[in-house]
Amino acid sequence: MAEWKKSADAVIIGSGVQGCSLAYNLAKLGIKDVVVLEKDSLCSGSSGRCGAGIRAQWGTEMNCRLGLACLENFENLEEELGMKIDLHQGGYIMIAYGDKEYQQLKQSVGLQNRMGIASRELSREEACEIAPGLWAEDAAGFFYHDRDGHADPFLTTYAYHEAAKRLGVTFLKFTECTGIKVDKGRVAGVETTRGEIDTPVVVNCAGGYAQQVAKMAGIELPNYSERHQIIVTEPVEYGLCPPMLMSFTGNFYIQQRPNGSIIGGCSPEGHPDDMANGNTWEFLEKMSRKFTRLLPATREVRVVRQWSGQYNMTPDKQPILGEADGIKGFYLSVGYSGHGFMFATITGPLMAELINGQEPSIPIEMLHYRRFAKGELILEPAVV
Ligand SMILES: Cc1cc2nc3c(=O)[nH]c(=O)nc-3n(C[C@H](O)[C@H](O)[C@H](O)COP(=O)(O)OP(=O)(O)OC[C@H]3O[C@@H](n4cnc5c(N)ncnc54)[C@H](O)[C@@H]3O)c2cc1C
Repeated sequence: MAEWKKSADAVIIGSGVQGCSLAYNLAKLGIKDVVVLEKDSLCSGSSGRCGAGIRAQWGTEMNCRLGLACLENFENLEEELGMKIDLHQGGYIMIAYGDKEYQQLKQSVGLQNRMGIASRELSREEACEIAPGLWAEDAAGFFYHDRDGHADPFLTTYAYHEAAKRLGVTFLKFTECTGIKVDKGRVAGVETTRGEIDTPVVVNCAGGYAQQVAKMAGIELPNYSERHQIIVTEPVEYGLCPPMLMSFTGNFYIQQRPNGSIIGGCSPEGHPDDMANGNTWEFLEKMSRKFTRLLPATREVRVVRQWSGQYNMTPDKQPILGEADGIKGFYLSVGYSGHGFMFATITGPLMAELINGQEPSIPIEMLHYRRFAKGELILEPAVV
């Protein structure tokens, strides 16, 4: 276990992909005396339970900008961090069901193209060429971006962790933050299950526990955590479906991994918010039906694993970034819904710039939680 530290320039709560990316990026900017607190182990939260998809096909300017930047950062990450992250860019095919979704996705592609994202509409034949196992006679249209893809979430988080450690960051695992000390409107330190640490900067990267951690500093967030399940099949011959298939009205994401396994998930009915990472037969049945309808060849394929993790949700399903109102030095990087893995390669650098007193290279004020009180929600249509 790493040596205890009584003080630090910054303390990050949570060693998921967000906490690890931020730690690395702070150290890169010269803030190296950083402690990352983790109540469990690396990747024990959503980062180790996610679908790990990465895309630039979004429906708002903000997310197109973040999506494209995160993609570019992923493309350079192995070189930057000096470790494998297993990036595969098989593209994403967005499938529209019905005219409303078709028009919505067509409009989004227009926006994406204006923002430098080379997405395009596909004919049914083209879609079936790119995803040879796809049955989509009932679909109204297909949209594609070939640079979208996925990376290994364990390798990515570990690569950030190791790179941060090389720059001097301390990771304290199995050390839970139990309190945040605030003095005269400024952060003064943290209380943990192993002792206290004095620090002027605390960053909440607690994933599914973001709202509980914010409360420790007296901040009420509108966040809640929602259990999302996912299944994976035994490996079958590669080539059935190399791109991610995604539909918002169809409510699914499904993709074949390079080892041949097919992975997929969908949003739950209701908002299971008991923080339990359990599984249900209902989900297995529902998701299996989606698999066999979209990829008929999966009818004889066995599901080998099912698991779940927490989406940390906000009222508009977009993250909360920025410094808390009224508490100098208390920062938030939370509420990533189903896109916190991909965004980590860009929100880590942006939050590090903000904490370092710089203007973030992509403006992020609109992601402050003040937007909820002002009624300025970010209405992103492209979320599952
Ligand atoms: C089924 C599923 C599929 C998904 N698919 C995708 C996808 O395809 N693409 C994508 O981009 N995203 C996806 N996501 C979302 C993504 O996983 C999350 O947004 C992302 O991992 C959030 O990272 P994080 O570091 O903020 O949180 P986490 O990885 O949850 O890390 C937070 C850490 O904080 C620790 N912690 C909490 N409270 C404390 C405390 N008091 N003291 C110390 N430590 C604490 C936790 O133990 C945890 O390790 C998916 C999520 C799920 C569940």
